[in-house]
Amino acid sequence: MKDSQINSDIVIVDDDQFQLKLLSHQLSTVGYKSVVAFDDPQTALGHMQSAKQKSTVLILDLNMPGMDGFEFLKQLKEIDFSGVILFVSTKDDLLIKASEKLATAYGLETLGNLIKPVQANQLEQFLNALNTKRENNLKGDKQYQYSPARLQQAIDDGELFNVYQPKVLLSTGELKGVEALVRWEHPDDGLIMPNQFIDLAEDHDLIDTVARQVLRNALNDSKIWKEYGMDITMAVNISIYNLNTRDFIVYLENELLETGVNPQNLILEVTESKLIQDYSMVLDMLTRLRIRQVNLSIDDFGTAQSSISQLRDIPFNELKIDRGFVTSACNDKALHGVFDGSMKMAKNLGMKTVAEGVETEADWSFLGDSGCDLAQGYFIGKPMKAKELADWREQWADRYQKIAI
Ligand code: C2E
Ligand code: MG
Ligand code: MG
Repeated sequence: MKDSQINSDIVIVDDDQFQLKLLSHQLSTVGYKSVVAFDDPQTALGHMQSAKQKSTVLILDLNMPGMDGFEFLKQLKEIDFSGVILFVSTKDDLLIKASEKLATAYGLETLGNLIKPVQANQLEQFLNALNTKRENNLKGDKQYQYSPARLQQAIDDGELFNVYQPKVLLSTGELKGVEALVRWEHPDDGLIMPNQFIDLAEDHDLIDTVARQVLRNALNDSKIWKEYGMDITMAVNISIYNLNTRDFIVYLENELLETGVNPQNLILEVTESKLIQDYSMVLDMLTRLRIRQVNLSIDDFGTAQSSISQLRDIPFNELKIDRGFVTSACNDKALHGVFDGSMKMAKNLGMKTVAEGVETEADWSFLGDSGCDLAQGYFIGKPMKAKELADWREQWADRYQKIAI
């Protein structure tokens, strides 16, 4: 059991005695022992006012006689509730979206919505998501697994390497390009994913060195593929901190010259959320890059709600819709809506669109008539070593015949 699990106090508020018993039982089977249940909202509020709130998860039924969900949220705001709320509602409860919005407007944190009858695995999924979020926040408190010195050593010793994930045209299945994703092969700990060291690199002035190494390897692999007749685009993720100085642009120009890679085949991906944080700083540098014919892509789009004017000012050519809006969008109207909206906006701004996180054949089919240009995801191909790409392409061509939309 994780520490965060032990530390979560769970408060259930539901007028239905049976629900209360069922939820308490389900929580105890998945390891949560500190559970308090109330069938009366007013008593629950009294309890929460005095309890240690920050670690509290409040499981709240929206439909209660006496005090409805809206009124309860208002009271929670008044007692400055600082825990997390998980709503319980029926499948077609029209209040749920409005309640989530209202909670956000009150500055309350929500975790999602459990549909009655609540299934134990559904409950567990939400609580696991919360644990992961809390763990990530802890990491945000700069408790890194590796020291900056160890990462520096990894860079010096060549322990970082690139893998590549294919991007294909939805209309023909053709391999259009790849995205380079960095990995760290640690001699004792094995394969380490970028989310375990990119923030560390950003915080300790190592991100420039990482980016240079990733870019150099990516352009070299591009050059080799081209020699074998594979003329495809290469996307590299860059951090906005790479754009702090002009040195990076000079380095990039030199590498392009040295490898002979056409700048029009290079795409730099910047994540939307970071972009919004330091918008004015990056605007200038990104424009300079675009003037040099390098392509710019907004990564993880949909997660940060950037304004259309911000996007219009930076000459992006590509928009990558975050996988949160792609994976399973076929089954979810709200996701579908965000997806369509992003697509329209991209088209209006003349950008190519890429759907990230195409995990299943259903995701793939959903994209068929979505107007999206390119697709990327485990269903098409997982990130792989450079030498595996040619074989993958042959296998994909066969597979594509069977799944062509
Ligand atoms: P990203 O740029 O959005 O890359 C896509 C991530 O989604 C990759 O994770 C990829 O393996 C994963 N992915 C691809 N298809 C699917 C799918 O169908 N389902 C699911 N669930 N996931 C899929 P990865 O390699 O762990 O990279 C995570 C993030 O780390 C990247 O997100 C990017 O923001 C960052 N990153 C990776 N390499 C670099 C780098 O060289 N420099 C910088 N600054 N950031 C990097
Ligand atoms: Mg990316
Ligand atoms: Mg992404």
